Amino acid sequence: MSELSEADRYLLERIRQGDGEGWSQLVGRYEGRLLAFARGKLHAHSDAEDLVQETFISFLKAVAGFREEASIETYLFTILRRKMIDLARGRHASICLLQDVLVAGDEDAGDAAQAIASLDPTASWYARRDEQHHLQRDALTRVMRTIIDGYKAALNFRDLQIVEMIFYAQGRNRDVAEAVGVNEKAVAVIKHRCLRRIRELLEPSPGLADADPPDALLSEIWQGERLSCLKRSTIGAYMLGTLESPWQEYVAFHLERLGCRFCRANLDDLQAQTADDTRHKLRERIFESTVGFLRKQ
Ligand SMILES: [Zn+2]
Repeated sequence: MSELSEADRYLLERIRQGDGEGWSQLVGRYEGRLLAFARGKLHAHSDAEDLVQETFISFLKAVAGFREEASIETYLFTILRRKMIDLARGRHASICLLQDVLVAGDEDAGDAAQAIASLDPTASWYARRDEQHHLQRDALTRVMRTIIDGYKAALNFRDLQIVEMIFYAQGRNRDVAEAVGVNEKAVAVIKHRCLRRIRELLEPSPGLADADPPDALLSEIWQGERLSCLKRSTIGAYMLGTLESPWQEYVAFHLERLGCRFCRANLDDLQAQTADDTRHKLRERIFESTVGFLRKQ
């Protein structure tokens, strides 16, 4: 299973051959969204820049062994998140990298360190220590992707939103019900249906369908694989307001209500780029419309 685009693969090939131009292209392509992601969570801008720089260094060091199961973007986000968690641990800061809305600030939210530990990104994914765990995780990832694709294909965004809030943002039924405007029982039913479907689809994998996978594992996979995250082009279309109706609302939910950190980082980066382009065009226009006057003087 490869998540690499042709463009990513080509770039990666050049980088592995030590091509500086290729490297510069990769940095240029991803630095903005990584910075936006880091800045959303770190108070000091210099910290964000340092961590993004270290992320690229770590990427380069590991590029030979990159498994190509994730996109470059997801891989870079994974490295950066781990660095942010390490930094937070070092400072005993209460940083929570999941969507704050549903997770943080409640009586049973638990202590910050524990929250961080349970959110530790997919160390095992890349560690290759436990082949069995790796296979199980892959099977579960595939199944969850299938289910999410099914919701999208059926334009069943209500259920997708509910499942997303439960498993991605670890929301409690009560909060989810309130956010979507349905009753708690309906939320429980949709969650139950989703878990049953997971087990049905896992049936061919021996031993995996015996019990429901723990919520924490589903959440970790959902985050680590960014299962419901939006394509950058979709976020661009959302900015322009050109998406069809149910999609426009769903994307708004994912970005604004759920507040997905990854997609918000892309949105921030795209907005900054648009602002840059606009400024640049304005500068050109001003220059072109004024340069004639300059010569006449
Ligand atoms: Zn997302």
